[in-house]
Amino acid sequence: MLPDFASELQNLRDQNRYRTVRTIDSAQETHLQIDGRNILLFCSNNYLGLANHPALKEAACEAIKTYGCSAVASALISGYMRPHRDLEHRLSQFLGTESALVFPTGYMANLGVITALVGREDIVFSDALNHRSLIDGCRLSRATVSIYPHANIDHLRGLLQSASHHRRRLIITDGIFSMDGDMAPLPDLLTLSNEHNAMLMLDDAHGTGVLGPNGQGTHEHFGIPASHIDILMTSGSKALGAYGGYIAGNHDLISLLRNRSAAYIYTTALPPDACAATHKALDIVSQQSDLRQKLWHNIRAISTGLQNLGFDLMKSQTQIIPIHIGDDSKTVAISQYLYDQGIYLYGIRPPTVPEGQSRLRLSVMATHTNSDIDQLLNIMATVREKFF
Ligand code: PMP
Repeated sequence: MLPDFASELQNLRDQNRYRTVRTIDSAQETHLQIDGRNILLFCSNNYLGLANHPALKEAACEAIKTYGCSAVASALISGYMRPHRDLEHRLSQFLGTESALVFPTGYMANLGVITALVGREDIVFSDALNHRSLIDGCRLSRATVSIYPHANIDHLRGLLQSASHHRRRLIITDGIFSMDGDMAPLPDLLTLSNEHNAMLMLDDAHGTGVLGPNGQGTHEHFGIPASHIDILMTSGSKALGAYGGYIAGNHDLISLLRNRSAAYIYTTALPPDACAATHKALDIVSQQSDLRQKLWHNIRAISTGLQNLGFDLMKSQTQIIPIHIGDDSKTVAISQYLYDQGIYLYGIRPPTVPEGQSRLRLSVMATHTNSDIDQLLNIMATVREKFF
């Protein structure tokens, strides 16, 4: 017999933490069709607007025509197809590493890497605001997990100094933090990892395609060659507008993961169309820097506009702009008000963010027009009047 789920669900409702989904009847663009209405989207990871790009769709359709809809086996058995191989080459070329590996999702890549590289005798140092997939990877690995306060290098140094007896040390950080939109202090983390003989893993799910002169991500933004980052992870499902989880690094790392990573070995390989779409996205990111410039233009316009209205954007430095509200029910009420006004801006509540830090997580797209931004800022001015 099932336990009393109804009362558990009621508790979530009482705490304003019950979550539902909205069904979208159109492609992922700045404007969505939902319940017969045209809604302006400000909470998608489609930062460069590539998810519905004709060239990506064509590449995906061609891959389906040639290779079908599924890999129908894990990569090691018979699921590793030409699109996987080509994408691995393209990824390593794009990011500047020796090699790369395709996982089905970013979540699985994080689980798969951490559990393959560290175990009971090892220690992981993880930023307090790292993504849930990294947290779960740490837990599953059974390594000792030492959580350092967000971006606090001095604290991390102290932790590393007292952990020399462990077999392996692994420092893990998001590049752009997914709920806060600030950047990791990557140069300092790199120095610390070298000084303390620790591996450094960068989850750049939100940095790829957005940061750096060529869109290579957080390491490029800081002028750090990718070869200096031991384990570079990214996702196809944000700026690249596609799907999949990717690890880049040296040949030995990638071969070890192919042999040891359960999340690579015991699941069906990514479908060929997702490989082809990601591949095409990397070509576009390399060739069209104007998309990135437009994104940064929009980021500046939106953050300045919101700050002028008096909103607290926390420490955002990027396309992810948290608008701090604090109280859960107020966050839900504002999100609903915005939706009624035709703007989709999701309210993020605990446990995704710490208690008392509920927020609207705004994400900017290169394809937002000036008039979209005006519409947002006008409605946010009314939010200011009504709710503060
Ligand atoms: N890392 C970070 C920082 C993320 O934000 C996400 C997705 N929200 C992931 C990993 C997981 O990637 P995917 O969506 O490809 O599973």
